[in-house]
Amino acid sequence: APTRAAGAHFTPSLKADFEASIDAMMTERALRLALNRNEFELYLQPIVHLGTEALAGFEALIRWRHPEKGLVHPMAFIPVAEASELIVEITQWVVSEVGRIMPEIMRAALQNPAATDGPLFLSINVSGHDLARASFPEMVGEMLRSTGIAPSTLKLEITETTVMRDPVGATEALSQCREAGMGVAIDDFGTGYSSLSYLSKLPITTLKVDREFVRAMLTTPSNRKIIQTILRLADEIGIPVVAEGIEEPAEADALAEMGCAYGQGYRFGRPVPLAETLALTKAWRLAPYDAALIVAA
Ligand code: C2E
Ligand code: MG
Ligand code: MG
Ligand code: MG
Repeated sequence: APTRAAGAHFTPSLKADFEASIDAMMTERALRLALNRNEFELYLQPIVHLGTEALAGFEALIRWRHPEKGLVHPMAFIPVAEASELIVEITQWVVSEVGRIMPEIMRAALQNPAATDGPLFLSINVSGHDLARASFPEMVGEMLRSTGIAPSTLKLEITETTVMRDPVGATEALSQCREAGMGVAIDDFGTGYSSLSYLSKLPITTLKVDREFVRAMLTTPSNRKIIQTILRLADEIGIPVVAEGIEEPAEADALAEMGCAYGQGYRFGRPVPLAETLALTKAWRLAPYDAALIVAA
């Protein structure tokens, strides 16, 4: 068989690999600069109680405000950050940013008691590299202590795939966070290769059904069945479910009827910057004339 010795053909596939790794290196360098220049932003997307449409919390979703490219979405850079461990620094930034913005969101919620049925939570996305650091629970705990934010306010979202890469390390870190009072959600549930036996060992407080199953659930019986199965599983464990990617009112109604507690999706609001998040919190569930008064105040 031909070998790839010096001077071997630079095949199209090798060339593609090479270009992809150059791309990744450039993105990695750019991400480092972005951290130093403070070019990241947290957008926030509402999560609601499906029964009442009261505001339950927000998910923080990172954006990169690139000086030339404009707003860059996480799928374009988070995978590179995860491959290079830069993700650890990005998560540290996310955690400190949560410490800054969460008190503002809670103040906005206090101005509109009609918005909520209880205390708001904030979800952040964390990766396996974060959990692999023994210092992770302490890093987050320190932010909570120094800001006075109740630990139960914070939810950590992790994907099955991330957990399964290092189940022992992830379980250890998540257990410490859980003991400190934080919530733990499995994100994109149903898309990873889930080992149910492992899931039962994780200190999980929420399951998030991936939007792949919510999309077309009204026309695809198999999607509906999967959602039903996840709801039953969550019920067995005794934890609530968040359905992601709800775009249609009819999807929200169907999910509520199936007993899904929480929903997230464009139907209730897209991810938006902090200023808009504060405005929508102050106006949530108020009659339009009331909302106008609040916005004008
Ligand atoms: P995710 O955690 O599953 O977040 C949900 C994604 O679905 C978000 O995409 C959100 O904008 C999108 N989405 C929400 N509702 C709808 C809907 O009704 N329709 C459609 N089509 N999409 C909807 P986004 O913001 O682009 O984030 C993509 C992924 O990037 C996230 O998926 C998460 O895995 C990752 N990510 C985002 N922020 C962070 C972060 O701060 N740290 C880490 N490690 N990962 C992050
Ligand atoms: Mg998430
Ligand atoms: Mg998700
Ligand atoms: Mg996702």
